[in-house]
Amino acid sequence: MSKRDYYEVLGVGKSATKDEIKKSYRKLSKKYHPDINKDADAPEKFKEIKEAYEVLSDDQKRAHYDQFGHTDPNQGGFGGGGDFGGGFGFEDIFSSFFGGGGGRRRDPNAPRQGADLQYTMTLSFEEAAFGKDTTIEIPREETCDTCDGSGAKSGSKVDTCSHCNGSGQLNVEQNTPFGRIVNRRVCHHCNGSGKIIRDKCSTCHGAGKVKKQKKISVKIPAGVDDGQQLRVAGQGEPGVNGGPPGDLFVVFSIRAHEFFEREGDDIYCEMPITFSQAALGDEVEVPTLHGKVKLKVPAGTQTGTNFRLRGKGVPNVRGYGQGDQHVVIRVITPTKLSEKQKELLRDFAEESGEAVDEHENSFFDRVKRAFKGE
Ligand SMILES: [Zn+2]
Ligand SMILES: [Zn+2]
Repeated sequence: MSKRDYYEVLGVGKSATKDEIKKSYRKLSKKYHPDINKDADAPEKFKEIKEAYEVLSDDQKRAHYDQFGHTDPNQGGFGGGGDFGGGFGFEDIFSSFFGGGGGRRRDPNAPRQGADLQYTMTLSFEEAAFGKDTTIEIPREETCDTCDGSGAKSGSKVDTCSHCNGSGQLNVEQNTPFGRIVNRRVCHHCNGSGKIIRDKCSTCHGAGKVKKQKKISVKIPAGVDDGQQLRVAGQGEPGVNGGPPGDLFVVFSIRAHEFFEREGDDIYCEMPITFSQAALGDEVEVPTLHGKVKLKVPAGTQTGTNFRLRGKGVPNVRGYGQGDQHVVIRVITPTKLSEKQKELLRDFAEESGEAVDEHENSFFDRVKRAFKGE
């Protein structure tokens, strides 16, 4: 029953910055994502990581957690997801001392939020940059239409469980060396629901819920990046006993591009140019996400020179402007030369013999000396 420390879960120190927390969360949530990680304990780990992040990424909740930890009785949950949050009531602590173990003691009739759902969406480089409206299909539990969620055949009665009087729990007395102890257990007559359905609904067989393929339209904002997630409020599993539904989290996985690379909102690409273009200067056409752009390469451009095309990057996902495109020049040394080209280059070299400036001369001299061991 003991919960792991949130900082420990995310593998960060108590004084970690928001950025460090976010970075670690991204890394871990990717590693344990149930769609990717098939280990049996991955979903549990994933949930734990998510919960820790929900608290530590929020200044207020983090301050609260730092002060009170997990066991603050006034916490009342973090208002986030259905299954976690909850906080620890007195009863939980009590029953864990006396070996009650396993599962929370909850009022089976209290409204509970539905579970959150996760969906991994793969996007092309362009789709991530420009966003798109799309529809996804997810298997989701829905309230059964036939019985409206009651689980009972229409017209038939739902009785209160007579064994637990509708509380869903039974008191079990045990004699121990320390005396008589009363333990509370989930009522096995009604499975903790507090209700007995005599005539079960034929559609859902009494569950009140059915699994359905549900189409959900999702608006992907322009500028989403790999590993980011989008919360679609209220599209998780339905709530229990009239509680609110959970949320749907769409996690993005972005495919690599043939020649663009992304770093935040900026795009990098390599532009090969010939030796003559580099030496004499030229105007070249550069592909960008927004169409071809003419770039002036000045005479004497070195390989590795970085030109910035303002505003040709990816729009910021939170609406803070637009990134740039960086064009990194790569000068290509010619490999197949005709006799005439070779001759021209020899002439060029000879001509350059005198043209090499003082700075370079001293550099080449230094190299020569280095090899002679002077
Ligand atoms: Zn019962
Ligand atoms: Zn039903």
